Amino acid sequence: MSAPLLEFKDVDVFYGPIQALRKVNLHINEGETVSLIGANGAGKSTLLMSIFGQPRAAGGAIVYGGTDITHRSAHYVASNGVAQSPEGRRVFPDMSVEENLLMGTIPVGMDHADEDMQRMFDLFPRLKERRNQRAMTMSGGEQQMLAIARALMSRPKLLLLDEPSLGLAPIVVKQIFQTLKELAQTGMTIFLVEQNANHALKLSDRAYVMVTGEIRMSGTGEELLGNQEVRNAYLGGH
Ligand code: ATP
Repeated sequence: MSAPLLEFKDVDVFYGPIQALRKVNLHINEGETVSLIGANGAGKSTLLMSIFGQPRAAGGAIVYGGTDITHRSAHYVASNGVAQSPEGRRVFPDMSVEENLLMGTIPVGMDHADEDMQRMFDLFPRLKERRNQRAMTMSGGEQQMLAIARALMSRPKLLLLDEPSLGLAPIVVKQIFQTLKELAQTGMTIFLVEQNANHALKLSDRAYVMVTGEIRMSGTGEELLGNQEVRNAYLGGH
């Protein structure tokens, strides 16, 4: 089997005296959809951001595509194929849908911009209808779609998604996960951080459970969906 696309080896991260990640080990193979689930404050966003060195891992190593990126710049990581749709769907509020999408090409240049924008409009037809609308006037779900599409405009090898379901109505969450499923079927490698464990585990090939900065459990999405401890803690005990 080939080496993982992304690997965390005994990664420690601190905020001043507070340890946010403790000896984290995980890996994502090319073409997999992997999720990281855990409660508020478990360290999920910290883990995603540490891939870009913000915050920087104080111990252990983060390896991407066979290269140790622990001490590389965020620019290096982004221009080598890692794109993130950040928590809170941070789109550029005063820019139109098209302008936001163009911002997504910054790490790679504009050579494929027209073609890729068309691809995004096929994947998210709603964005096509609203291509000239300012992002701030769009619904939460539309802004989330835009944040994901913007990340995809850099043709990433690895797509990181931080809580795409946050604050959205159930029907919209369903639509977003349906689109992520289509994206996964195209072979995209996806690393998803979610509090919505039910949707995340159903979508994922594999998943990790994080508790106060440590990986507590891992398995296939199906295994974790059937695990009583996971059900009690993250799926309302049903
Ligand atoms: P949520 O789902 O609420 O976003 P999370 O699992 O993503 O939670 P993190 O945001 O990674 O968790 O936070 C992990 C821990 O690190 C928390 O205790 C948080 O208070 C702390 N933390 C996060 N960012 C900082 C920071 N910039 N400075 C100090 N502590 C921080």
